[in-house]
Amino acid sequence: MRPGATSSAGVQSDDAPFLKDGAPAPDIALAERLFIELRERTGEGRPDRGVTRASYGLGEQIAHDIVQREARRLGLLCAIDAACNLYISLDGREPGPAIIIGSHLDSVPKGGNFDGAAGVLVGLAVAAGFVRAGQRPARDLIVFGIRAEESTWFGASYIGSRAAFGKLTGTELDTVARTSDRVLLGAAIASAGGDPVALHAGRPHLDAARIAAFIEPHIEQGPVLVGEGRALGIVTGIRGSFRYRHARCDGQYSHSGATPRSHRNDAVLATAHLAVALDGLWKQHGAAGHDLSVTFGQFATDREQAAFSKVAGRVDFSIDVRSEDPATLDLVREDLLRTVAGLELEFGVKFSLGEETGSQPAHMDKALIAQLSDVAQVQGVDARPMPCGAGHDAAVFAQNGVPTAMIFIRNRNGSHNPHEAMEIEDFARAAELLAAFCHAGPKTPRTP
Ligand SMILES: [Zn+2]
Repeated sequence: MRPGATSSAGVQSDDAPFLKDGAPAPDIALAERLFIELRERTGEGRPDRGVTRASYGLGEQIAHDIVQREARRLGLLCAIDAACNLYISLDGREPGPAIIIGSHLDSVPKGGNFDGAAGVLVGLAVAAGFVRAGQRPARDLIVFGIRAEESTWFGASYIGSRAAFGKLTGTELDTVARTSDRVLLGAAIASAGGDPVALHAGRPHLDAARIAAFIEPHIEQGPVLVGEGRALGIVTGIRGSFRYRHARCDGQYSHSGATPRSHRNDAVLATAHLAVALDGLWKQHGAAGHDLSVTFGQFATDREQAAFSKVAGRVDFSIDVRSEDPATLDLVREDLLRTVAGLELEFGVKFSLGEETGSQPAHMDKALIAQLSDVAQVQGVDARPMPCGAGHDAAVFAQNGVPTAMIFIRNRNGSHNPHEAMEIEDFARAAELLAAFCHAGPKTPRTP
């Protein structure tokens, strides 16, 4: 189809393009036009200030309205659940559980245009391709526009997708407030047209048994695909984590010149040894092929008391350990606690790790990964298997027993900033992959 031309509902265009395997080509021009409209209408006025789509706020609503307007224009059925999630449906050729493609439409404050929105527009471009060709996907296709994924607004993750499975708690609805304006979550949902009473009752909109696959396309948030010159990645799992956000090490302040090594209780040296020991563990696990990342994101002496001529008496620090494999997380935690005990004896210091927080890893469906990899190969796309370090709605689907996959799209400059840079050609590769998948239908029975 010519760029800028529009589709009309259910009418087959004579020049509707098809992919090599017979699937209708996705409508990339439509997605391109909507990316521009999203940037213009939810942007902060200047490109370097990015876009803001607050969860249950104005920007997110505009994004949902844009996507719903286009879906209706295509003649697709739209439904909204009690949490204001958007479901766009296209009937399939065969009966059976549906395929859902989607992601979130909110953003962080002054974020990028592609984080979240790309996943929804991949789904819409695929659906629009079928409409343009006058064809149907193998199974019912639902394009899912999810609410409130970014935890920056309400301090809670995956609000929309958890609500879709009836898993949002009454306590969250009644007590969690949006950081920007202190509006309570339940009230924010109500003001967007949702139904907090139904959410309180825990009535699910989605039934895992009626979903053959959930696929979330998302821009890659790290530099791997850019570095390797690949357009796409296929996610093998979403990392779980354990974190100590407020850890500290207490030693003793003393004179740097007058205190011999044997009499020191050096908090900096002890904590530095801990960081080096954990880095060694990371290298070991890496060499054994275990997925792991270890980060000491905060590491500071006490501004009031520390000085260049004093042995440090206190270090405040944080540890963030992530892995796809719960067993690896358990091993690293054990080694960490053993190392801490050893360093306390060696350096005469006291570590207080504080409260541990974290999340369980989510496994992507192996059969689904295999099928997507096969389709990519047929299309001549070198899609790399890779872990996902950040949390996504896909984790909620996987944890609710839905066969789940994620496609990463190459993106420069990371995410959650105005400089996200996804090329539309790479977006098109992801949409073509999923158009072919929807055309063929899921090949394997769903795994419980
Ligand atoms: Zn995202």
